[in-house]
Amino acid sequence: MSEPAKNFRFEVDADGIGLATWDMPGRSMNVITMAVMDELEGIVDAVVADAGIKGCVITSGKPNFSGGADLTMLQGLGAEYERLKASAGEEAAMRHFFEESRRLSLVFRKLETCGKPFAAAVQGLCLGGAFELALACHHRVLADDDKTRVGLPEIKVGLFPGGGGTQRVARLMQTGDALQMLFKGEQLRALMAKNMGLAHAVAPAAEIVERAKAWIRDGGSAVAPWDVPKFKAPSGKVYSPAGMMIWPPANAIYRRETHDNYPAAKAILASVYEGLQLPMDLGLRVESRYFAHILRTKEAQAMIRTLFISMGEINKGARRPKDVEPSKIGKVGVVGAGFMGAGIAYVTAQAGMEVVLIDCDQAAADAGKAHCHKLITGQINRGKAKTADRDALLARITATPDYAALGDCDLVVEAVFEDPAVKAEVIGKVEAALPEHAIFASNTSTLPISGLAKVSRRPESFVGIHFFSPVEKMLLVEVIRGTQTGDRAVATALDYVRAIKKTGIVVNDARGFFANRCVLAYVQEGHKMLMEGVPPAMIENAGRMAGMPVGPLSLNDEVALDLGLKILKATEAQLGSAAIDPDQKRLLVEMVENRGRLGRKNKRGFYDYPEGGQKKLWPGLFELQPNRLDPDSIDVDELKHRFLVVQALQAARTVQEGVITDPREADVGSILGFGFAPFTGGALSYIDFMGAAAFVELARALESKHGPRFTPPDNLLAMAGNGGRFYDALKRAA
Ligand code: NAD
Repeated sequence: MSEPAKNFRFEVDADGIGLATWDMPGRSMNVITMAVMDELEGIVDAVVADAGIKGCVITSGKPNFSGGADLTMLQGLGAEYERLKASAGEEAAMRHFFEESRRLSLVFRKLETCGKPFAAAVQGLCLGGAFELALACHHRVLADDDKTRVGLPEIKVGLFPGGGGTQRVARLMQTGDALQMLFKGEQLRALMAKNMGLAHAVAPAAEIVERAKAWIRDGGSAVAPWDVPKFKAPSGKVYSPAGMMIWPPANAIYRRETHDNYPAAKAILASVYEGLQLPMDLGLRVESRYFAHILRTKEAQAMIRTLFISMGEINKGARRPKDVEPSKIGKVGVVGAGFMGAGIAYVTAQAGMEVVLIDCDQAAADAGKAHCHKLITGQINRGKAKTADRDALLARITATPDYAALGDCDLVVEAVFEDPAVKAEVIGKVEAALPEHAIFASNTSTLPISGLAKVSRRPESFVGIHFFSPVEKMLLVEVIRGTQTGDRAVATALDYVRAIKKTGIVVNDARGFFANRCVLAYVQEGHKMLMEGVPPAMIENAGRMAGMPVGPLSLNDEVALDLGLKILKATEAQLGSAAIDPDQKRLLVEMVENRGRLGRKNKRGFYDYPEGGQKKLWPGLFELQPNRLDPDSIDVDELKHRFLVVQALQAARTVQEGVITDPREADVGSILGFGFAPFTGGALSYIDFMGAAAFVELARALESKHGPRFTPPDNLLAMAGNGGRFYDALKRAA
């Protein structure tokens, strides 16, 4: 090595076997940076140059092997490309970009073909570029503990493995399995990885290095399987009868799963398809070409920004009031042990906190605890928890009707009926029992926090913690700041949300807060289309094609139609009939009141839910349509635009109204909260990456056809005029 390595320790034992221990100073997790690549290459050179070294084991000095490439470094490459394009032209910029973005791939290939055996000894997380490093080693030993996970999750941030992953995985596994693994980006446990052919051995953590060394000592081969002449890939040739059984369905599955919205998924397909027809070095070159292309797509940039960078910043407390000491939350009260309250109690106890679960009487409180029992039993049945975990979790939950049990709680979350009078009574009872330092939180979904806080005797300690259903699955929580909510309440709420391993965004108090307001616009657009005469199946497909996880009618069935009608009626009562959509009201009244169709909960909604069978769109929907459009006359792209634009406009309005004050929260919140087309990077990034001017033009076109719900707000008009972006303010603040 020319310079001593900073990120690796290197030693050689008495048998002549090198051990490179990756242990980056000042970081809790190893990541691949330019310096790491240089040092790794230096290690390969040193091992090759020293005749006394037989081979080398690579391991980590930290609890995890590594999380993979530093995505901010990849982002930096994109910025460098733009700079070079402006100064030296597109071709020079592209050449530089291609060479730089394939650096990692070349270092790994050098390691693989250096002539001496390399083995990886892996414990903990080993993901992305780090797993590609392990795949380039000639032998892989994984620790058989619970924490060890390997995988290539790049697709989740709009990227794909560009360090040889697509080529090596496709040469180790059956093509169908390889494609599935790359498309899903799953993290695999050690034994699973071994069974899939991705690792050679599994051993107790304390023995992995020794096992890897023993493999080298026993004469392990320094030639990768694909570098052996006459190598045959596990599924045989692409152009063969077997290949023809794989590729046409693979293409169909790709289309079904992505609707062609994810360039990275398409690049995986192409890279494997082309690469398998070429020798390894050319296959890697093909992969690098696709990687350089994908890195520059707006989808990758948007997804990296929102799902990696912004999410990381938010989870690390970017929006937490700075001056408040970290809160110590040991005991949490949950009042209302119904559907939401039981879920909240469960996730809180899961995180190790003590829980007091209160309802009107002992039986109701016990029923909430029984729900927790059911949830953890489900985890046990799926192999994700042990019986001892269940016992410990249930021991942490005290179910009681007695408010006095709240006397030593640090936080109380109420989830009683959505009725201001019931809430007011509960607020009074809880505050009478709570210690002075404790924070009171409401899980209301429709009642303004500032209004509820009026009955509180300490409104500065009163905050909204808005969960989504089902609580144990949904990763987003909105922390609602009322007009009088103090910083300590917001900070405590965010600390609690982090403790239960969810992502909290701070939203100023307003009707529908943030997420529900946007997603209700999506559902309403589906209702509108139905009443216009668009075939129901086309509405649902267009929703998914736009990138939403489920169609609007399906989503409405899950949430319950009567709840939608109730919210509509409450809005009408408070704000007048101009505030609601008469078409939507007519449809919901017909469905709920005249036809008794409430959604999945009574097995009859926009869909029918036959016992033991698959749900099907209710044929009677056609009768409710005043007229029916000829499907061939409908522009599907327009339907898709309507779905995304109507939600993005709501998101833009929340910024204009000061409900959302940081674009990262709208973007992360829209993807985690209601699955807003992830490839866009979220509801505001959708506008930013399109450009406000183009977005306003699109909104105006829809406005002229469909009315004022598509009218762009002033902040967007200003941005369209001056080329501004939502993220400009954030950059200025940084
Ligand atoms: P639920 O009807 O399932 O549960 C409410 C529980 O509160 C019942 O067990 C009831 O016995 C109990 N309760 C009523 N009055 C009480 C009192 N005075 N003291 C103690 N307990 C009392 O309702 P839910 O769906 O769990 O909703 C609860 C809250 O969560 C509501 O504010 C709702 O708006 C909000 N929320 C619901 C959802 C959802 O999807 N269901 C999502 C987010 C927020």
